[in-house]
Amino acid sequence: MPFMPDQPPQSAETTTENSTAGRYDVVIAGGGVIGSACAYFLAENPDFEGSVAVIEPDPSYQYSASALSASSIRQQFSSPVNIAISQFGMAFLKSADEHLALDGVAPDLGLVESTYLYLATQAGNAGLCDNTSIQKQCGVACHQLLPDALSTRFPWMNFEDIALGAVTEHGEGWFDAYQLLMGFRARARAGGVDYIRARVEQVVCSSSGVSGVKLGNGETITCSSFVNATGCHAREIAQQAGIELPVFPRKRCVFVFECAHPVEGCPLVVDPSGLWFRPEGHQFICGIPPNPDVNVAPDDFMVDHDLFEEQIWPLLAERVPAFAEIRVTNYWAGHYDYNVFDQNAIVGAHPTVKNFYLANGFSGHGLQQAPAVGRGLSEQITYGEYRSLDLSPLGYQRILDNAPLVERNCI
Ligand SMILES: Cc1cc2nc3c(=O)[nH]c(=O)nc-3n(C[C@H](O)[C@H](O)[C@H](O)COP(=O)(O)OP(=O)(O)OC[C@H]3O[C@@H](n4cnc5c(N)ncnc54)[C@H](O)[C@@H]3O)c2cc1C
Repeated sequence: MPFMPDQPPQSAETTTENSTAGRYDVVIAGGGVIGSACAYFLAENPDFEGSVAVIEPDPSYQYSASALSASSIRQQFSSPVNIAISQFGMAFLKSADEHLALDGVAPDLGLVESTYLYLATQAGNAGLCDNTSIQKQCGVACHQLLPDALSTRFPWMNFEDIALGAVTEHGEGWFDAYQLLMGFRARARAGGVDYIRARVEQVVCSSSGVSGVKLGNGETITCSSFVNATGCHAREIAQQAGIELPVFPRKRCVFVFECAHPVEGCPLVVDPSGLWFRPEGHQFICGIPPNPDVNVAPDDFMVDHDLFEEQIWPLLAERVPAFAEIRVTNYWAGHYDYNVFDQNAIVGAHPTVKNFYLANGFSGHGLQQAPAVGRGLSEQITYGEYRSLDLSPLGYQRILDNAPLVERNCI
C-alpha cells in the first residue's frame, strides 16, 4: 500500500545542518529510494571520506514513485543486467536486518517471497521460452508450466486461452517500499549524510562539469559530483547541464480490492493482456498499462476509474472467476519515470559531463533496482569504476550510440 500521510513525518532537516553547509563533495538531487540508496552506500563505504547532501523538497514523499509503487521484485527479466540487479536486490532485502538496522532495530520490510506467474497465449509462447532460457543461463531458478500443470497448481484460475506459464522457485515477491526508503534514509543520515529540505532549481555548470546547485530557498551549494535522482523530474534537471534524457512521466493506476471467495496461494500474475494482480495482505492489488500510454503532466495524479470498470475488472473475472465478486477498497495513481528510448534505467556518469551521475528512467522497475544502483553509483563516485556489478550496459552511451537495451519483460 502506498504511504499517504495526513501530516508529513517530523523532520529535523534544515538547509544548513552541519559545518559543510554550502559545500559538499557529493550532492544528490532527489531523496527517493534511488537517491537515498546512493547516499546510504556512500555513507557505508569506508573508502569514501567525502561529505554528502541529499536535496529533497518533500519528506512526506507523497507524490514520489517510491511511495506509490507496487513494490514487487522479480528475476523474470529478459536482459542479464536486469536479472543480476534484481538478484542483488533480493539478497539485500533478505538481509535487510543486517544492512539497515539502526540502534539494533531494523525496518520491517514485510518481504513476502512468492513468484511471478508470467502467462503466454500461443502467440507469446516463443517469447516466453526465450526469456526463460536467458533467465536459466543467469542462474534463475525458473521453469515453465503447461496448462495442465498450471491448473493443478492454481485451480482457481482459468487457463483456457493459455499455452504456457513461467514461475520461479525463489527470488521473487513483494515488500514494503516505504520501509525500504526510510531504512536507507535513516542509515544514510546516521552515517553523516545531510538531507536538505529544498528543491534544486538550477544545476550550475562550468567548463569542467557541474560546479554546484542553486536551491529554491536561494542558497547555492557547490559540489564535486552531482547525482540526478529526481525521478519524473530528471529530464528538466539534466537539461540544465545540456543533457537530453528521454524520460517522461507516465501514469499508472493501482486498485485495491477484496474478494468474497478464497483465492489461495496467489502469485503475482502477469496476464498476456498486460493486466497484473497480486495479493496484498488479505486483499489484492492490480493494474494495467493505459492504452494509449501517453506522457502526463507531473501533477496529474487523477485515478482513471473507467480503466478499472471497463478493462481491468472484466479481465480479472475472466482469468479468475472468483474475481467476478470483488469490492474495490482503495486506489491511487503514481508516475513511472518512463524511458521512451528503451524502457530501462539510465545509470552512471555521463560520458562528457563526467561528474554528472544519472539514475533515471526506471520505467516501473526502479524499486527493486535501488540497492544495486545505489551501490553501483557509490562505487563509480568513490573509485571511478564499478567494482561489484558492472552497470555499464545501463549507461548513457547507449543513447548516443542509438543502441537500445531491449527488455522484453516490462510491466
Ligand atoms: C504505480 C507504480 C507501481 C510500481 N511498481 C513497481 C514494482 O512493482 N517494482 C519496482 O521495482 N518498481 C516499481 N515501480 C517503480 C518504482 O517505484 C520507481 O522506479 C522508483 O520508486 C523510482 O525511485 P526514484 O527515487 O528514482 O524516484 P522518486 O521516488 O519519484 O523520487 C524522486 C524524488 O525527487 C524529488 N525531486 C523532484 N524534483 C526535484 C528537484 N528539482 N530537486 C530535488 N528533488 C526533487 C521528488 O520529491 C522525489 O522524492 C512502480 C512505480 C509506480 C508509479
